[in-house]
Amino acid sequence: MPDSSLAGRHVPADLPTRIQHYIDGAFVDSADGGTFDVLDPVSNETYLQAAAGKKADIDLAVASARRAFTDGPWPRMLPRERSRVLHRIADIVESRDARLAELESFDSGLPITQALGQARRAAENFRFFADLIVAQADDAYQVPGRQLNYVNRKPIGVAGLITPWNTPFMLESWKLGPALATGSTVVLKPAEFTPLSASLWAGIFEEAGLPRGVFNLVNGLGEDAGDALVKHPGVPLISFTGESATGGLIFANAAPFLKGLSMELGGKSPAIVFADADLDAAIDATIFGVFSLNGERCTAGSRILVQRSVYDDFVERYAAQASRVVVGYPHDPATEVGALVHPEHYAKVMSYVELGKTEGRLVAGGGRPEGFETGNFVAPTVFVDVPPDARIFQEEIFGPVVAITPFDTDDEALALANNTKYGLAAYVWTSDLKRAHNFAHAVEAGMVWLNSNNVRDLRTPFGGVKASGLGHEGGYRSIDFYTDQQAVHITL
Ligand code: NAD
Repeated sequence: MPDSSLAGRHVPADLPTRIQHYIDGAFVDSADGGTFDVLDPVSNETYLQAAAGKKADIDLAVASARRAFTDGPWPRMLPRERSRVLHRIADIVESRDARLAELESFDSGLPITQALGQARRAAENFRFFADLIVAQADDAYQVPGRQLNYVNRKPIGVAGLITPWNTPFMLESWKLGPALATGSTVVLKPAEFTPLSASLWAGIFEEAGLPRGVFNLVNGLGEDAGDALVKHPGVPLISFTGESATGGLIFANAAPFLKGLSMELGGKSPAIVFADADLDAAIDATIFGVFSLNGERCTAGSRILVQRSVYDDFVERYAAQASRVVVGYPHDPATEVGALVHPEHYAKVMSYVELGKTEGRLVAGGGRPEGFETGNFVAPTVFVDVPPDARIFQEEIFGPVVAITPFDTDDEALALANNTKYGLAAYVWTSDLKRAHNFAHAVEAGMVWLNSNNVRDLRTPFGGVKASGLGHEGGYRSIDFYTDQQAVHITL
């Protein structure tokens, strides 16, 4: 029974009690009947059973996607026709954004207002690739009088999509949108912590008129369903988002098949605040950068480097502002940090909070917030004076925990910024335009925001360097990834 401290908990109406796979246009159980428990992060009680896919289920899903690719209409439709279906998908997602956000927030612990933003972003991902595929130009190169050469982009076949539990619905859309836009067919393996919102795709796609077999979904654990998808010889590419260690394993497992891979992996992104920065803006943005989405964000600015002359002032104001961040039940519109996704992840984050107390100086948070005796709640936690060799400076915590470290010179800031195995994002705060650009060019990060919040432009490359990823998606790069680019040469 939920204890009395859960009185403020919200359970959405009409929650399913089981989730199945979706293969060849039908909802089905696992071939062996296996299931796994799904918990909600406020009560940590099991609220549904999801089908636990294994190799046999992946085999069926890939066979369905292959049939839809070789015999079905989808890859042969005009881009404009596919685009219409994708726009209908976006319309449906938009029209259900409140329900999607309610379910996502319940399943993942994300604050409801932020889950709503992610649902709308999912619609935007579909709309963006619906437009892009119609605008796609084929490259042509002419050697006057001798030869005409052009690029024929062909959908790749069955794309294997493996996604994490943070902002699950949106991140699934980031792969589904471009894969479907190209005419590929897909098998999606969503994260096992958060299968609820993914279970809605099938109904949305059916309603939008996506032909049968184009979209297939197999739930299950990474080492079972995910592994079988990676090792299936009929799946020529895998788009993966998740931890760097998992990415390495998938890389190795896909190697014998020479599969195409796109890897969007972990991060420990620095925010660098120079003394000449607009400190008010920098503090607001760096608070948002690590505490929004519960800190469960790949591009979180989880290390803040501050120039020494403003360090004490920054630290004092930052700690005060972090203490004002509202922790609350995920469904409450006032909540800014909700509940972490799962008790296992909560234990991991809390172990870093304890470690941080030995590695740095705690100035805000440091444990469970008052008034929340159960559930995966962590107070926004700030450690300062953190040495660069500390584990809380080096390792991805993936929760509302930030490490702040001082620096003196530009060179020192750069060395500190680059001093991790990761290279996903960086944020630079300075009023010196030249310094901002030079720093951006030198920092080892796939994406840099200068005097800016983390706002994406879907046309730009998304991806990391070093242990943060392999390859880039975004804009035409996503179209290129889900297609074979065949060169055709004609003698004139
Ligand atoms: P994870 O690596 O544990 O799991 C991700 C997915 O991989 C899940 O669906 C899981 O079931 C599957 N998986 C696990 N083992 C597998 C295997 N052996 N073979 C095939 N599939 C397997 O990651 P997570 O904990 O779900 O997500 C959090 C991580 O994702 C963080 O490191 C975060 O930084 C990263 N992330 C990166 C980006 C990005 O764009 N760079 C975006 C979001 C999250």
